[in-house]
Amino acid sequence: MSQETDWADVRVVGIPRALLFYRFGVLWTTFFEAIGRTVVVSEATDKAVAEAGDHLSVDECCLASKVFVGHVEALVGKCDAVFVPCYPTGEPRSGFCTKFQSATDLVRATFRDQKLRVISCEVRNARKMKDVRRAFEGMAARMGVAPRDAKAAFKAAWDAQRAHDAALADAQERTLRALDERRREAQAAAAAGKPVEEPLGILVVAHPYITHDPYLSGAVIESLTDMGATVLYADAVDHERAYKKSFDFSDTMPWLINRELIGAILLLQERVNGIVLISAFPCGPDSMTDDAIMRCIQGTPILNLMIDAQSGTAGVETRVESFVDILRFQQKGGYTHG
Ligand code: SF4
Repeated sequence: MSQETDWADVRVVGIPRALLFYRFGVLWTTFFEAIGRTVVVSEATDKAVAEAGDHLSVDECCLASKVFVGHVEALVGKCDAVFVPCYPTGEPRSGFCTKFQSATDLVRATFRDQKLRVISCEVRNARKMKDVRRAFEGMAARMGVAPRDAKAAFKAAWDAQRAHDAALADAQERTLRALDERRREAQAAAAAGKPVEEPLGILVVAHPYITHDPYLSGAVIESLTDMGATVLYADAVDHERAYKKSFDFSDTMPWLINRELIGAILLLQERVNGIVLISAFPCGPDSMTDDAIMRCIQGTPILNLMIDAQSGTAGVETRVESFVDILRFQQKGGYTHG
């Protein structure tokens, strides 16, 4: 079989429910289904998946990439090939962490004994539709798909991802407006001498594969909601607005997702009572950007949490509860001076 159509026999495509699946998963699944493939997404992360990934990875890998490897392992024998795209680091100001550049090679090398087939494409610049289209149409050609069908599939996939992202951003904006309204009502009640507890909005800032993986961040989100806080997500802000806003913070920051997260902080800072940063140990980009956020974002209390393969989220509940208690105390004027 020539290289041009060497993936034509791949009928069932496995997609690991990890890393950029949480950012581009709608595009990926819609595309494969639109070219007539069956998509199998690995089940939600659990202890077994996390431990398998830990076992197959070198110690230096971050928790998120170990979990990713565990998801690939879970797909062995359940699909004809696993889809592991490459998102390179090199694009100035919209690049990705090196883990995304090396993911395809890493999976091929890790699973070579199982002879796991890997299909892939290289997306040069994830913000440019033309670049993404070129990558997916090139992959479709190797899968034996006619150019016209690949083009139509890509359009459907691109539109589906955009619609999904817009729906998330709209839903979050409605939550924010409701929060603003409840705050105004609480202030009016206080002015009328009938004080009620003000609502508390907390912005969770983390890579989407951390925030939305219940195994990794579930304990944090649960603790916040159990304590009555309204949880907002930095990755659910309109990506384009957040990306542009991030240049108010830094002209040089190289990573797309960190840019979107920082832009979201700048856009929402005035509308939340506190920020919870969550990182997976040891994350290179976050070690730099979290430090900059802690130093440069003034006026909004920040809790910085690190989760790792050994301790997971053990102990985070206590830290989250203390943070929320402090914010509530502050709402009541506990820390005002003068
Ligand atoms: S950005 Fe951080 S958490 Fe994400 S893959 Fe890279 S090192 Fe891991």
